[in-house]
Amino acid sequence: MSEGRRPDPRLVGDCVHCGFCLPACPTYELWGEEMDSPRGRIHLIDQLIEGAPADDVLTGHLDACLGCLACVPACPSGVRYDLLIGAARAQVEDEHRRPLADRLLRGLIFALFPRPGRLRLLRGPLTAYRAMGLERLMARDAPLGRLVPRLAMLARLAPERPERPTRERLPARTPAKGTTRARVGMLTGCVQREFFPGVNAATARVLAAEGVEVITPRRQGCCGALSLHTGRDREARRFARRTMKAFKDVDVVVTNAAGCGSALKEYREILGEEPPFRVVDVAELLHELGPVAERRPLPITVAYHDACHLANAQGIRTAPRRLLQQIPGLTLREIGDGGMCCGSAGVYNVLHPDPAMELGDRKADAIARTGADVLVTANPGCLLQIADAFKRRDTPPPRLAHTVEILDESINGR
Ligand code: SF4
Ligand code: SF4
Repeated sequence: MSEGRRPDPRLVGDCVHCGFCLPACPTYELWGEEMDSPRGRIHLIDQLIEGAPADDVLTGHLDACLGCLACVPACPSGVRYDLLIGAARAQVEDEHRRPLADRLLRGLIFALFPRPGRLRLLRGPLTAYRAMGLERLMARDAPLGRLVPRLAMLARLAPERPERPTRERLPARTPAKGTTRARVGMLTGCVQREFFPGVNAATARVLAAEGVEVITPRRQGCCGALSLHTGRDREARRFARRTMKAFKDVDVVVTNAAGCGSALKEYREILGEEPPFRVVDVAELLHELGPVAERRPLPITVAYHDACHLANAQGIRTAPRRLLQQIPGLTLREIGDGGMCCGSAGVYNVLHPDPAMELGDRKADAIARTGADVLVTANPGCLLQIADAFKRRDTPPPRLAHTVEILDESINGR
């Protein structure tokens, strides 16, 4: 029995084959192949609907899609490629048997990433791996790196010095300072919680300073973003139900990881019911509320990178830029590459290391050209991917930070 979504033929019918989406698509930009463009993939999804088998070729072109959704705002006909690719991936997961190596790698990824407890257990071995200099063995051009490129990419993406979650453990309730203007539940995420706990702590401090009471449920787990965006619908539904239960006592859930926020906003599609809370990205909420906390000057130059699942999936581009521009002394620079995906795209960079590295290198070049001291974005995956790309360059990297960390520095001096 099928477990997942199926693509809606009416959505395929909305495509008029004009090709306006092609220049926005990173994989079409890389390879120039029609079947690796949004229009080509919509044609393949149409074939899937018509009963074509989910064979290696069709699956390969759909797997090669980053899911960056740059094609969605680029489409003048309003084609919902986001819904089409999500449902097509669910069908492929149900009908296609992948090669053994692929199944093993995906099994490893989904045994680790959506499980913060297991990610935490990796901290010791990761530190030892770096201390023993084993990174050299996993370099892109090292023999082992060439032999197992996807495992090598997974190892390289791990943060240099993961922050200690215990130092930044959040209280179950962070009261608002001054007048309470809102009350929210905060999703702490999996990778965010274990590798960037400072971002969660900064989020709570900034929200509190802006008059927001923050509830952080202890018993929250993965929101299901990675599962949802790779077509693992049954797993995604399980995570979604558990998340809905964890946040049953709040009316608003705030996220600070673009992929998580976009997944929560898709719960209606996967569960067939509206979640009982509103989902907002932290930048979206702060922009809506308007500033009350005093901003101290920060004399830095910032390049802001649009995380695809914030800009394309949630349409949030202005809010983070405005929040940064409200900081006295801060200069904001645009990266100037049309907002092209950095190649992170959930677990795409592990599953497809070569195109991901090509896109990462292009992004690092564009960031370096801005001359900014700090690169700011709103997704842990982008931060890891861009950090990895800068390791391959001779030029010194900019400091990498989440939007709320910069706000926290200005508001709270942290
Ligand atoms: S998805 Fe939109 S932009 Fe792309 S070919 Fe179809 S109608 Fe044109
Ligand atoms: S989601 Fe991104 S990679 Fe996939 S077809 Fe659209 S633009 Fe191309």
